[in-house]
Amino acid sequence: MNVQIEKIVPDGFVFEKEQNVAHGTRNGMELLILPMPAEEQFRVQLYADVNSSSEKEKLLGYLSELQQNYPYVQFAGFNGVDMISVHVSSEEQADKENLTLVVSGLGSKCEECGIHNCCSYCRRTLPVHGAVVDGVPSVICGECEQQLSGHTEGKKENLLLGVIGAVIGTLLGSVLWVVLGQVGFIAGIAGYVIVFCGIKGYEFLGKKLSKTGIVLCIILSILMIVGAEMTSLAITIYKEWGSMFAPTIWAAFSWIPELMQESELALAVAKDLGVGYLLAVWASYSSVKNIWNQVAEKQKVHTVERF
Ligand SMILES: [Zn+2]
Repeated sequence: MNVQIEKIVPDGFVFEKEQNVAHGTRNGMELLILPMPAEEQFRVQLYADVNSSSEKEKLLGYLSELQQNYPYVQFAGFNGVDMISVHVSSEEQADKENLTLVVSGLGSKCEECGIHNCCSYCRRTLPVHGAVVDGVPSVICGECEQQLSGHTEGKKENLLLGVIGAVIGTLLGSVLWVVLGQVGFIAGIAGYVIVFCGIKGYEFLGKKLSKTGIVLCIILSILMIVGAEMTSLAITIYKEWGSMFAPTIWAAFSWIPELMQESELALAVAKDLGVGYLLAVWASYSSVKNIWNQVAEKQKVHTVERF
């Protein structure tokens, strides 16, 4: 047996030969019908804001009734997020009639329950239309269509302002490093805060975060950690030597190059930095990787074919 959509398209629905999908509207709801040849079934698919409806239970009740009352409905359910799907097994001659009943039923029940279409990407209840995104039939809003196909950049990145934001962010994060250093801690969390504040700062002033932005933030953070360690050292000198040798914090800074000639201190600072870097990488690796992947996903251009 062959599950062919073109023969069963409910009235008012359109069959897209190339994508092998039928789509149409019932009671203002955009529905898709897809073939499932292996199971000899069709899948009616609908993206909707079920969770924000006060009549959600009524719709779920309707779906389970659908599955119980009609032998050709193999499955009817809601994925808990945004998709309602109904699997209809093929009965050949009766397919068109069965599917017409399912799409009409779903459409009017959604209207009755105050449920609306939502975009399968951003999940907002906006006007949607059928489209094939990266080969997968879907229902998306105009904004997501533009974004996915890379027609709009959305907000434009400002590299210079981004870097300024990152400097401010990493400086703020460095304060924590210095404070913890004074208490005698080398904490990975401080390294994480430096990177994180840098990225947030970049995003805030630069308007948009890119891979370049993240790399710049990481480089800045590495430099800032050295700066923070030196500041911490200067504060220690200032506190220990008092007014005689280091009357100001700046005077304390100027002692650092000379003191670093002493191998013992240089070694201690190197150890602090080494451990600090390791902990910083350990603390921020997965979070930075996450942000990186999100940015990469946004920068990727998808193929979107509108029905
Ligand atoms: Zn959208």
